[in-house]
Amino acid sequence: MDQERWEKQMRKAIAVFAVMVVLLTGLWSALALATETSKGPDGVYEGVAGGHNGEMTVSVEFKDGIIHDVKVIRHVETAGVTENAIANTTAAIVATNSPDVDVTTGATFTSRGIMNAVRKAIENAGGKADEFPAPEKAAPAEDEILECDVIVVGGGGGGITAAVRAAQMGANVILLEKNGQLGGDTALNAGTLVATGSKFQKEFLKEENDSPELLYEDIMRIGKHANDPAMVRVISETIGETVDWLIDEMGVPYDVAATQYPDHSANRQIGVVGRSPAFFEVMENRFKAFGGTVLLETRATVLLTDEENSVTGVVAVAKDGHKITLYARSVVLATGGYGANISLLPDTLYGYKFYGRSTDTGDGFLMAVDIGADTINLDYVKAYTQGVETVPNRALAATASSTAASNGHGAIYVNTKGERVVNETGTLSEQTEATVEQEDRILYLLMDEDAYRTYVAKSLEDRLVTTEDDLNKWYSIKIGGRPVIAKSESLDELCEIMGIDAEGLKHTVAVYNANCEKGEDPIFGKVNPVALDEGGMYYIVEQKPRFCTTLGGLKADADMAILSVDGTPVKNLFGAGSVIGGANGRDSMTAMMNSWAIGSGRVGGEAAAKNAGVD
Ligand SMILES: Cc1cc2nc3c(=O)[nH]c(=O)nc-3n(C[C@H](O)[C@H](O)[C@H](O)COP(=O)(O)OP(=O)(O)OC[C@H]3O[C@@H](n4cnc5c(N)ncnc54)[C@H](O)[C@@H]3O)c2cc1C
Repeated sequence: MDQERWEKQMRKAIAVFAVMVVLLTGLWSALALATETSKGPDGVYEGVAGGHNGEMTVSVEFKDGIIHDVKVIRHVETAGVTENAIANTTAAIVATNSPDVDVTTGATFTSRGIMNAVRKAIENAGGKADEFPAPEKAAPAEDEILECDVIVVGGGGGGITAAVRAAQMGANVILLEKNGQLGGDTALNAGTLVATGSKFQKEFLKEENDSPELLYEDIMRIGKHANDPAMVRVISETIGETVDWLIDEMGVPYDVAATQYPDHSANRQIGVVGRSPAFFEVMENRFKAFGGTVLLETRATVLLTDEENSVTGVVAVAKDGHKITLYARSVVLATGGYGANISLLPDTLYGYKFYGRSTDTGDGFLMAVDIGADTINLDYVKAYTQGVETVPNRALAATASSTAASNGHGAIYVNTKGERVVNETGTLSEQTEATVEQEDRILYLLMDEDAYRTYVAKSLEDRLVTTEDDLNKWYSIKIGGRPVIAKSESLDELCEIMGIDAEGLKHTVAVYNANCEKGEDPIFGKVNPVALDEGGMYYIVEQKPRFCTTLGGLKADADMAILSVDGTPVKNLFGAGSVIGGANGRDSMTAMMNSWAIGSGRVGGEAAAKNAGVD
C-alpha cells in the first residue's frame, strides 16, 4: 500500500473512531440521564398508599439509583399482627432493590400497602417503579424431616402457652405457625384473664368471696349449661395457678382490668399492660430462651399416625412450598376456631357476619376429625350485634359506637318495619337476641345529629375508623344493593333509601318522643330516654349480628388429650384453646375466651411434655 492510500485509510479510521466515540459518549450520557430520571436522583423520598386499616407512609433512601433503605414512618395497622410484615417487607425491598416482593402471610394488605407506598416514593423521586423489577423466584428448599419431643401447631394464646410450658419442663419443642407472626385472634383481644384463686387476686383485687366453685357456676350460667362440665372444672380449678405462673415465673405484666364486667359474680378480671401484643412479646422470648424453635409461615396439613392410630407427627408446608415432615412424641393442636370456614358453619348462622381473622379456617379441627376425633357444640358461636357490613360477609364491630350513641342521646334501634324491639340501654345479649329474632336478622340505629356525632367520635376513639372520611366512605357501600348507612332530613327519604317502612318508623319516633317528654319509656324501660331532635338531619346505620369466636370444637379430657369418637384419648394428641369445644357452652363471660386459650394451653402443654417423657 502506498503512503497516500495508507494515510487516507488512517484518516477514515480516525473519523469512524471519532464518530463512534461521540456516539458512545452520547449514548452513555443518555443512559446516565435515563438512569437518573427513571430511578431518581439520590436522596430520601416519601410515598403514601393504603394498607389494611388506613394510609401508610414510607420513606425511601436512594443511593446511586439503588433502594438503600425503607422505613414505614406512619401507619395505623393492627398492633400484634403486622410488625413482622413491616419488618419483612421493608427488608425484602432493600435486599432485592424492588418494590415487588412476597407478602407476609396473614398480613397481605399491610405488605402490599408498603410495596405500593414505595412505588409512590420512586415516582416522587422522578423514577419509574417498573424499572425496579421483581427478583427471580428462588427454587423451593429441599423437603426436610425434623424430630422433637413436642410439636405445637398454632401460635395464638393457646399454642404459645402450651409451647412455653412444655419447653420450660425441658421438652424439645417446635412451634408451627402458618402466619408470618405469632398471635392469631389472641393478638386482637384486650389481654384480659380471670384470676380466680391466684395470689394476684387476693393481693390486688382484695376479693374474698371468689372460689373455683363460684367461677364454675358463672361459666355454666352464662354458657346456658350447654358447657362440657369437665372443661369448665379444669379451667375453674387451674386458672389461678396459671395466673401465678404467668406473673411470677414468666414475668407477663398484669394489672387489675380497667372494668370489672358485671357478668362475673366476683372481682376477678385482670389485664396485660400493653394488651395481648405485650403478652406475646414476653412469651415468645421465654419460649426461645427455653430453647424452643418457631417456624413461621409454615402450615400444618396432616397428622401422621401409626397402625394403632397413635399420632406420631405432622406434615407441614413451608412458605416456599417445600414439605416438612415432623416426628414427635406429642402433638398439641392449637389452631384456633373455624369462623372463617363457611363450610363448617351451621345454617342457623344465616345473616351473621364474621369479624375474626381470615386464617380461622379450622385446620387443626379438620386434621383431628380426619383421624377419628370427637366433636362438641359445633353450632355455637359467641355472637354480638351492631355489626356494619363494610365488606361482603365481614362486619366491623361497632358495638361501642352504637352503645355510646344510644345512651343519653337521641337514638333508637328499629327493625325493617320501623318498630322498636329492644331496650337500647339493656344488655348486649338482649340486643343480639332481638336482632336475630327478626326475620331478616337486621336492626337499624336511628340517630339525630347529636347522637351521630357521638357515634363518629366513639368510632374514632376506638379506631374503628381512622378518620371521619373513612366513615363517610360507608355512605357509598352497597351490600346486595342495599346501603349500610344513610342520612336525610326526611324520615320518608331515609326509609326509602334503607328499605324501611316509613309509616312504621314515623309512628315509632312520635310515640318514643312523646314518652321522652314525660321522661319515661314504658315500652322497653330505657334508662334516661332522650328524644330524637326533630327537624334536623337523621342518620341510620345497620346493626347486623356478627361473630368471630366459635364455641364448639374437638372433645377433650381434663389433660386436654383429644378424645376419639369411642371416648378414649387419641394417643399423643393434645389440644389448647378454641380448637377444643365446650368450655364456654352457648356463650362466654367477658375474658373467658382468652382465659380458656391460655389456661388450657398451660394444662395441655404440661400434659404433652409428660406424655413425651419429660417431667
Ligand atoms: C377482635 C377480637 C376480639 C376479641 N376480644 C376478646 C376479649 O375481649 N376477651 C376474650 O376472652 N376473648 C376475646 N376474643 C376471643 C379470643 O381472642 C379467642 O377466643 C382466643 O384468643 C383464641 O385463642 P387460640 O389460641 O385458640 O386461637 P388463636 O389465637 O386464633 O391462634 C390460633 C393460631 O393457629 C394458627 N394456625 C391455624 N391453622 C394452622 C395450621 N394449619 N398450621 C399452623 N398454624 C395454624 C393461626 O394462624 C393462629 O395464629 C376476641 C377475638 C377477636 C378476633
